[in-house]
Amino acid sequence: MKPKLEVHGVSYSYHSLEGETLALSDISFTADNGEFLAIVGPSGCGKSTLLSLLSGLLTPDTGEILIDGVPQSDSRSNIGYMLQRDHLFEWRTIMGNAELGLEIQRKLDGSSKEKLHQMLHTYGLGSFEQAKPSELSGGMRQRAALVRTLALEPDLLLLDEPFSALDYQTRLSVCDDISSIIKSTQKTAILITHDLSEAISVADRVIILTSRPGRLKAIVPVSFGDENLGPLMRRNMPEFSVYFNQVWKELQNHD
Ligand code: ADP
Ligand code: MG
Repeated sequence: MKPKLEVHGVSYSYHSLEGETLALSDISFTADNGEFLAIVGPSGCGKSTLLSLLSGLLTPDTGEILIDGVPQSDSRSNIGYMLQRDHLFEWRTIMGNAELGLEIQRKLDGSSKEKLHQMLHTYGLGSFEQAKPSELSGGMRQRAALVRTLALEPDLLLLDEPFSALDYQTRLSVCDDISSIIKSTQKTAILITHDLSEAISVADRVIILTSRPGRLKAIVPVSFGDENLGPLMRRNMPEFSVYFNQVWKELQNHD
């Protein structure tokens, strides 16, 4: 079967008055259908740039990105992009925020509304449909943002440090929730994080980038034997620290 995503020799530079900044150099990897990849690397190494390239907001200087075998610029694939901040609008209710993407795509109708209703219920937001974002906790807001993203039925999900604004405990539980939602819906997901434990707790493979310009340092497959083990359970497994040390060493080693 074709991979969901193929990245071949991608480089990207930013141009500004101060000159050119090479942000990413010669990045190649693939993601299979239903695979969960985590990307880690030092701050400023080009992680967000890479997601913007995958989403099509930026175009690579060299190399190419294929989605379902089709160049990203021609792809009709539905990509969901979730950012660090939840970007919920305070002037809309939680339901209103969840509806936003569908509304923009003119896909809001009785049946899509009913589906949103059910998703909000499933993700523990059923009694908050009419609440304003400020009435919700950080974790609930992040779940609402996820419902808004998933409502568009993306088959590729790009997550740029979606948990980093949450306190540690909330982060663990939201990460657990979100990872089980993504796994149960068989989405292909790419998660950017600077938290190695988070990466190892959710991913099928961890991609490690060097400091800027980001190059591919290593790809570490992560397996705990049981596919259905959630992030919190993974953290309790003896293999967890072995993977942590392996990824940590790759990040430290600057050859
Ligand atoms: P990360 O997400 O890994 O922290 P980014 O992808 O945001 O890194 O940025 C990679 C590098 O590109 C950084 O050094 C940053 O300063 C630079 N950069 C990011 N956006 C711009 C921009 N719009 N113009 C110029 N340089 C940029
Ligand atoms: Mg970033």
